[in-house]
Amino acid sequence: MCVALLAASPTRAQDYPTKVPTMVVPFAAGGPTDTVARLVAVPMTKTLKQQVIVENVLGAGGTIAVNRVAKAVADGYTLLIHHIGMSTAPALYRKLPYDAINDFEPIGLINEVPMTLVAKKDFPAKELKELIAYVKANKEKINLANAGVGAASHLCGMLFMSAIQTELTTVPYNGTGPAMNDLLGGQVDIMCDQTTNTTSQIKAEKIKVYGVTTRKRVASLPNVPTMDEAGLKGFEVSVWHGLYAPKGTPKPVIDKLTNALHVALKDDNVKLRFAELGTEPVAENRATPAALRAHLKAEIDKWSPIIKKAGAYAD
Ligand code: ASP
Repeated sequence: MCVALLAASPTRAQDYPTKVPTMVVPFAAGGPTDTVARLVAVPMTKTLKQQVIVENVLGAGGTIAVNRVAKAVADGYTLLIHHIGMSTAPALYRKLPYDAINDFEPIGLINEVPMTLVAKKDFPAKELKELIAYVKANKEKINLANAGVGAASHLCGMLFMSAIQTELTTVPYNGTGPAMNDLLGGQVDIMCDQTTNTTSQIKAEKIKVYGVTTRKRVASLPNVPTMDEAGLKGFEVSVWHGLYAPKGTPKPVIDKLTNALHVALKDDNVKLRFAELGTEPVAENRATPAALRAHLKAEIDKWSPIIKKAGAYAD
């Protein structure tokens, strides 16, 4: 009787998923993390035969969402998609209510994506060197948008201000989707953001671009120099996204999710849209729990001393 009841239980890991999983996005709809989430959720839905719902949980540079997933039931129905902020928040925040490594089961890396330094359309500088000179001369009137302490836009903006030794007023949003709206409207001046959010606006000439933050140029924006080429030697930030479940999620569930992620990263529409937006899915051997765990640890080790040196902290 007992065995029969167990076998019929809808919560058996082998039966997963028997209801809809939710993928929590730590930033507002319309931004870069949301875009990646919504693209991969479509083929994951087909593989898992349950609708993968995307939910935007906003605030505190993404840390509210991360904490929500850290405390969720570990059954595979609450997942987290997050970027490089998973590795920078532990150094940026004096106190975090979660442990980025020990409170999660990594599922796999998803993609790597460059950032771009962009400005509102009528910003009076044509190239990076001019922008730096202008910003230094007018620092009290210029503001820099970001998605809060812990966001990639915050990290990139912080590195930029430190590289040019100039403090600017920062304007935090709940995501760079809404920040982009204000950049387009001219309410904010400059921003660092992923190509997934900036490419179409750059191509439509609705905003100005000064450089990409990766070592190499981006195929979808071939005329945009790297920040290094444009004058800020060694300036490099490469953003990555990963998929996580709460610690203790059963291995058969993680295996199904990793498999669904592998299928998603080979999906034609995902590959096409990623390429158009200047990003790339990682190779299959990096879309694994072990590779994400190792990458997260390596990124925490890489960014902690840089953030400490820059002296940026939040409570
Ligand atoms: N990825 C953005 C950032 O970190 C936030 C977002 O996805 O909206 O700045």
